[in-house]
Amino acid sequence: MALVSRLQSLSSTLSSTHFRKPSSFNPQPICSLHFNSSPSYTSPFTEKHSIERYQRDQWLYSNQLNRTLPPPPDSDADSDFARQNDIALQLPELRKLVEVLREKREKREREGGCGGGKCGPGNVFLVGTGPGDSELLTLKAVRIIQSADLLLYDRLVSNDVLDFVASDARLVYVGKTAGYHSRTQEEIHELLLSFAEAGATVVRLKGGDPLVFGRGGEEMDFLQQQGIQVQVIPGITAASGIAAELGIPLTHRGVANSVRFLTGHSRKGGTDPLFVAENAADPDSTLVVYMGLSTLPSLAQKLVHHGLPPTTPAVAVERGTTPQQRMVFAELKDLANEITSAELISPTLIVIGKVVALSPLWPHTSNEVSSLVGAI
Ligand code: SAH
Repeated sequence: MALVSRLQSLSSTLSSTHFRKPSSFNPQPICSLHFNSSPSYTSPFTEKHSIERYQRDQWLYSNQLNRTLPPPPDSDADSDFARQNDIALQLPELRKLVEVLREKREKREREGGCGGGKCGPGNVFLVGTGPGDSELLTLKAVRIIQSADLLLYDRLVSNDVLDFVASDARLVYVGKTAGYHSRTQEEIHELLLSFAEAGATVVRLKGGDPLVFGRGGEEMDFLQQQGIQVQVIPGITAASGIAAELGIPLTHRGVANSVRFLTGHSRKGGTDPLFVAENAADPDSTLVVYMGLSTLPSLAQKLVHHGLPPTTPAVAVERGTTPQQRMVFAELKDLANEITSAELISPTLIVIGKVVALSPLWPHTSNEVSSLVGAI
């Protein structure tokens, strides 16, 4: 926490805006894990709360408060608006903060505070925060989160995880969604770089594991090219955390001898995930689909077309490992319809494979389970 005192003194310099850690949110009562068909719109993730949080903690100027009312829950357009504003509103203040840190650092160098030479850059940590349940954080992640000066987080980092942030640290919401303005992404990169160069300990929080569909590699690449060292702290990826919660072994002797993580989205010009399905239609393998809600109907069709039995057990889990977890178990042929009826929303993870029937929550009879598992 080398720079906390500097950040504190800056807080008084920039008295009109306070980037303080939020106090904890009231958790929702635990919902039934079974086929809860009435959608619950509270979210354990930060996405829906950012603006409310800034307002409550007086992070916004008073004239901005009037302009930036909290979005109604689950309105995509409004949450996009909120996300963009989160960053836009904070960037000017953060730039000022970088300037102050730079000046202080130059002063320290002039006074010989860094052995008479230049002070080294700060550390950047890319920290995986797991699927949502804060008890799934690693000890290392907790230690680094607690000692950070500045933390950048996105929509898959749960509010409970943010409770570990020190009260004098600064939190910046930099949630990314499809259609996110690319200039802002560059600004995030520049921001990470500027703070590290100014000597701050910067933590980039990423839901799950930073290097599993988290674009952590891109941020790491950018910073390393600029000569900043990045340390990656792994997190429990959604597949592992959620499968464990449901009692689904991702691999199981005699049932599934491999597991494949697949994205339902592809980068423009990248490999079509549905093309990957040709190779993924393997009854002896478990398929875990991230970001797969919108492409599931065609993915399921394609998997069946390429030989996966339509009766293959499957589950879709929304907001897994959090008190708001909802899920739908179904055979592959019915999964897309069941998801639509249950109105599951993002983040939802889909697991397809015989191992799903091994979950004690699989709703079919034990005879069916043994025939599914025995049919290898
Ligand atoms: N780096 C993350 C994945 C980011 S991609 C990880 O390792 O888990 C985002 C996708 O991950 C979501 O669209 C969803 O498919 C999945 N996901 C992440 N957390 C989830 C959660 N708590 N519940 C359900 N799905 C989740």
